[in-house]
Amino acid sequence: TPTIGVLALQGDVREHLAALTASGVRAVGVRRTSELDAVDALVLPGGESTTIDKLLRAFDLFGPLQARLRAGMPAYGSCAGMILLADRIIGGIEGQQTLGGVDITVRRNAFGRQVDSFETDLRIDGVDGPDPVHAVFIRAPWVEEVGPAAQVVGRVADGPAAGRIVAVRQGASLVTSFHPEVTGDTRVHRLFVQIVRDTL
Ligand code: GLN
Repeated sequence: TPTIGVLALQGDVREHLAALTASGVRAVGVRRTSELDAVDALVLPGGESTTIDKLLRAFDLFGPLQARLRAGMPAYGSCAGMILLADRIIGGIEGQQTLGGVDITVRRNAFGRQVDSFETDLRIDGVDGPDPVHAVFIRAPWVEEVGPAAQVVGRVADGPAAGRIVAVRQGASLVTSFHPEVTGDTRVHRLFVQIVRDTL
């Protein structure tokens, strides 16, 4: 059984731990390098990417985590986590860095003020079943550009943002603009668990 960490510096850590446990893996919070060393894969939760970036550096985790990612550790980033795993960012604050690893350009807070938070149903490649995924967006980024190494696996289906890219896979990394951990539907986490199992 794989052990999957959840980066526990800021954000909705508890919900990811619960979704991972429900998906049949060991799930642990990661705050220090010794904890990072003990996990097979990592979830980067939603929250505030600028804060998580600062805390990663304050906790001396930025370099070690980037090294694990570059060595191929599977990672799933939701919302702020997507921003942290993106190679390029539009609309970051002065000095904001990302860990990178996924060949995409993300736009922070992309959906605009009127639709800061919204919910919609969409399809994700690799998520089975007759029901679409209910996607919850909270001050979410979208993916503005996808490089050749990355693969689009989900887009907004309808409404003003129809066609916007909100889920991408690259190797053993998965990123989504939305928050599957708040809906009780564990299929996105199960997809990540399958990626981790296939990688180990
Ligand atoms: N707007 C946040 C950021 O830029 C992300 C919001 C979220 O994770 N729900 O990090």
